[in-house]
Amino acid sequence: MQVLVYGAGQLAQMMYLAGAPLGIEVWAVDVSDKTVVHPVSKKLSDMSLTQAIDAANVLTVEFEHVPEELLEEADRTGKLYPSVDAILVGADRVREKKLLTSLNIPNCPHKIVTHVDQLDECVELLGESLIIKASRDGYDGYGQWRLKSKSGLDDIKQQLAGLDLRAVPLVVEQCIAFDRELSIIGARNQDGDIRIYPLAQNCHHEGQLHVTIAPAPRMSDALQEKANKIFHDLANGLHYTGVLAVELFQVGNDLLVNEIAPRVHNSGHWTLHGADTDQFDNHLRAVLGLALGSTRPLGVSAMVNIIGCSSFSRDLLSLPGCHMHWYGKSVREKRKMGHINVLAESTLALGSTLEKLTQFLPMAHFPVLQSEAEKL
Ligand code: ATP
Ligand code: MG
Ligand code: MG
Repeated sequence: MQVLVYGAGQLAQMMYLAGAPLGIEVWAVDVSDKTVVHPVSKKLSDMSLTQAIDAANVLTVEFEHVPEELLEEADRTGKLYPSVDAILVGADRVREKKLLTSLNIPNCPHKIVTHVDQLDECVELLGESLIIKASRDGYDGYGQWRLKSKSGLDDIKQQLAGLDLRAVPLVVEQCIAFDRELSIIGARNQDGDIRIYPLAQNCHHEGQLHVTIAPAPRMSDALQEKANKIFHDLANGLHYTGVLAVELFQVGNDLLVNEIAPRVHNSGHWTLHGADTDQFDNHLRAVLGLALGSTRPLGVSAMVNIIGCSSFSRDLLSLPGCHMHWYGKSVREKRKMGHINVLAESTLALGSTLEKLTQFLPMAHFPVLQSEAEKL
């Protein structure tokens, strides 16, 4: 069986690695030049894109920002999972908000803005503390502007002046004072079977995910049930096939959806070592029409992103339950270079291993690790 992934980054690489033992051959499309490459070595394949599409049983994506003409070409083959509609919901915050409203799923109070002058009205309606998001092409906090008080409005208007907001509107959200960030990840296959991983707790710094703990500590059954319902409503509402990730804010006993990612997700990397079946394996199973695997956690996991650095001792691998995954990219500031997974038997044991991990790492690049370890 062959699967062709649009996008040739680390997520395609991890799909490749999950596919090998199942006898599934995974190829990747570099969407910037439409070449077909090996997902790990990035070496050019002999296949043209057309030949790779023909050879594949299934086409899928590793990220939502695939140029639309490529998605439409893929969709015409009838082999694209998830569907182009589901991918575009993840790629376009306006579509995303409309879907959430139509399915009655709680999300952040927001307004859609097509002219900077509408920002004054947003302040009246939503308050002075706002997060202004470009509706397309944002990730890791890029394409966002934060308003802290009314006095900053003119400055932000100037920064936005060059954008064509009629073509790409802004989504202006109330800044939520959440208790914590969570995500719910699961898979739905072509038969409509659903398997959901336990809620994960995510710690962001400057708009970027740094640490995930899963299952999320101190989680009530009621909140897990609420998250499961949100997942079911979205996955069934979209007739979704594949792994779907939903980012959430916990506010008291309520959950608000922040955004939807129609793909495997960074906050699901802990499943590589911490769950019965990892998210990449389950994604391949889902899109190929195979039975889904158990999402049961094997203990308590932490996933620590390695961001913007590569020079540190690999001796960290001596720590119990510690694994590393390197993406093989050149170093850039704020770039996700790899991640470390730690699996432990208890929250306490996990905290202790994470404390030890800090001794192996250049801590300037891990601004939240120490405090997250101490909280466990
Ligand atoms: P990703 O890499 O997850 O796709 P993104 O660039 O699409 O990120 P968001 O997930 O929308 O951006 O926002 C990034 C982070 O900014 C969130 O995880 C959260 O920490 C913070 N944030 C976003 N929206 C809000 C909000 N309405 N209120 C408070 N914090 C927010
Ligand atoms: Mg996003
Ligand atoms: Mg996000």
